Amino acid sequence: MGKKSVILAFCFLLVLALLAGFGGGKQKQESSSSAKENEKNNESTSDFKVTLLGTGSPVISMERFSNSTLVEVGGERFLFDAGRGAAQRLNQLDISPGMIDKLFVTHLHHDHVMDFDDILITAAVPDPRGGRENNMQVWGPKGTKDWVKNTLKAYKVDIQVRKTVEGASGLDADVHEFKEGVVYNENGIEIIAFEVDHGPMKPAVGYRINYDGRSVVISGDTTYSENLIKHAKGTDLLIHEVVSVKHPEEEYKSEALKNIEAYHTTPEQAGEVFKQVNPKLAAYTHIALLIPEEEAKLVERAQKTYDGEVVVGVDLMAFEIGEEVKVIEP
Ligand SMILES: [Zn+2]
Ligand SMILES: [Zn+2]
Repeated sequence: MGKKSVILAFCFLLVLALLAGFGGGKQKQESSSSAKENEKNNESTSDFKVTLLGTGSPVISMERFSNSTLVEVGGERFLFDAGRGAAQRLNQLDISPGMIDKLFVTHLHHDHVMDFDDILITAAVPDPRGGRENNMQVWGPKGTKDWVKNTLKAYKVDIQVRKTVEGASGLDADVHEFKEGVVYNENGIEIIAFEVDHGPMKPAVGYRINYDGRSVVISGDTTYSENLIKHAKGTDLLIHEVVSVKHPEEEYKSEALKNIEAYHTTPEQAGEVFKQVNPKLAAYTHIALLIPEEEAKLVERAQKTYDGEVVVGVDLMAFEIGEEVKVIEP
């Protein structure tokens, strides 16, 4: 074979390889766009959807991450609390941290806020799904400003480097502190904060989200609260915390456990709240149980006084708020 034919053969092979490459690429593109299409078909068409990201407590669990709830309503996305693992759960929903720019905090117990840092700063990682251009907006009761300011201070160097060297944006936060009342009112979405009773952990609030004649109420951490009942009346979906540190007939094993239960809600108290509020659907979150077998009895214990439906929330369970409240199992 002469030098010329070697070059020709090489070129021929190169063209073949390129063609195969392009073909393969095209095929890959086609399959990924049809995957996108499928994803779209599976996407909810509801304009009011709530997803439980974390239904646990400070107790470490791979099944129940700490407290966090995503509300997608009227084309907007709101995060209520950012407990342990919130960023990972969002990722499971194909939502990048940078796609979150509105956070509402119920109180400053760490199991409700510890993933704020992660969601805020991980937005610096380039992500084709979307990033954050402007400051993160944080709403919360008194103390939220200090907590955000100190968090930003703790990560000052990290944030500075990511901004200047990596060109990241959206790594600052504006805080809107409030007492009680309407805290957000845009595009037909109204968010009302109301005080709840979380014992020594003051202030603590719950939220009601109103949209197009429908509503969702998130209790935050509280014991039985008349103010919650007042604000939650007649809501479509009431997402309420629950704690049980012992069998109902047992004595408390320690003073500490007694104190903890005193500023949370037992299933029996939850039943009383549900009865007063009369929601279309009641769902438990923040499920903190010292005796795991008690989980099976959470509904039964509430239904001693309440005869409506009660759902035991699990991570990534979703609810569509339409004429009825539709439960979507993860
Ligand atoms: Zn909590
Ligand atoms: Zn708490």
